[in-house]
Amino acid sequence: MLKNKFREAMLWKPLENKKVLCYLCYRRCVIPNGMLGVCYTRKNIEGKLYSIVYGKLTSMNIDPIEKKPLFHFHPGSEVMSISTVGCNFRCVFCCNWVLSQEKEVMGKSTTPEEVVKYTLSYGANGISYTYNEPTVFFEFAYDTAKLAKKQGLFNTFVTNGYMTVEAIDEIAPYLDAATVDFKASGDPWFHRKFMAVGDISPVFDTLLEMKRKGIFIEITDLIVPKYGDKMEYVKKLAKWVVENLGPETPFHLIRFFPSYMLTNLPSTPIETLEKAAKIAKEEGLQYVYIGNAPGHPLESTYCPSCGKIIIQRYGFEILKWNLTEDNRCKYCKAKINIKGVFKPKYRSWLSLF
Ligand code: SF4
Ligand code: SF4
Repeated sequence: MLKNKFREAMLWKPLENKKVLCYLCYRRCVIPNGMLGVCYTRKNIEGKLYSIVYGKLTSMNIDPIEKKPLFHFHPGSEVMSISTVGCNFRCVFCCNWVLSQEKEVMGKSTTPEEVVKYTLSYGANGISYTYNEPTVFFEFAYDTAKLAKKQGLFNTFVTNGYMTVEAIDEIAPYLDAATVDFKASGDPWFHRKFMAVGDISPVFDTLLEMKRKGIFIEITDLIVPKYGDKMEYVKKLAKWVVENLGPETPFHLIRFFPSYMLTNLPSTPIETLEKAAKIAKEEGLQYVYIGNAPGHPLESTYCPSCGKIIIQRYGFEILKWNLTEDNRCKYCKAKINIKGVFKPKYRSWLSLF
C-alpha cells in the first residue's frame, strides 16, 4: 500500500467526501482525496492526510549557528542543518528555490535517530531545521526535535513564521529558538506580488505565540532593491518588534542578491541597508545587524549601554568576545541579551551529503 511509505500528518481534520483540512499553516488547505496541499508535501490518501517528505532529507550539514542567523543564541555553536523539499510560499527570489519550489519528493531516506546520532558524533550542539520551510516537514522536525532534546541538544527553526498557533503549541516544548524571516519588512503589496502570500498578518500572531512559549527569537528582514525597500515598512516592523517582542530582540537587515526569477535586479545597495538600520535603531531596537555584507561594521554587536564593541564578527566568525561569563558587557557590565554560553572552538563546516 502506497500510504504505508508515509507518516500520518499532524494537525489536520477530516471533512465530508474524503476531503481533509490541514491546519499546520495559515494556508489552511482543504485537500480533496488524492491531492496535495499548496506546499506539495502533504497528501490526502483516502481521507487521511500524510506527510510525503517524512525523512526525505535533501541536506545535512554542520553550520555555524551565526549562519541561520542566530547571533544571540549559543554563539559560536555548531548546528546540524537539515532540510527536505517544499515550501508554503512562492518567493520568486528564493535563494534555495531548488529545494523550496521542487514539486517531486526527493532526498535521502533518514530517520530522526540517525540525525541525532550524527549530530552527537560530529560534536554539534544542536539541530537547525532550515534551507526550506521547516513547517512543511513538521512531523520529521517534531520527531527529531523530541529525540534531540532528550540527548541534551537544542533545536532551532529558520522559518517564514506562517505556521499556525496550533503548530507552535505542538513544537514549543522542543523548540529552543527561531529565526523568523520577513521580506520587504512585511509590505503586503510585495507579499502578494512576489511571494503569493495574500495576508502576512498571521506571522505576527506566530511571533507573539513564540514569545509566550519562551522560544528565543531573532528577526531577519530581506531588503529587496526597487520593490521591497520602503522605509515606512522598516519603521513599522521595527516599531512592532520593540513594542511586542522587546527592544532587545536581535534584528538582521539582509542584503538581497539576484536569485531564481529576480535576476534582473542588482544586489541591495549598502546605503539602503544602512538607512534601514538607522531607522530600526531610532525605533529603539538595540541589536541591529546588516547581513550578507561581510566586513560591514554592523556585523558586530555593540553594547546598548556604553556603545563599545562587545562581539566582533566577520561573516559567521566571531573574532573577539568582550563579555563576562554571565553575558555582561566587559566594559560597563550591562546585561546583554545572549542565551547560552559562547563556544570558542575551531570551526569544522562539513556536509554529510
Ligand atoms: S502545510 Fe501545506 S497542506 Fe498544510 S495548510 Fe500549509 S500549505 Fe496547505
Ligand atoms: S519562504 Fe523562504 S524558503 Fe520559502 S520560498 Fe520564500 S524564501 Fe524560499
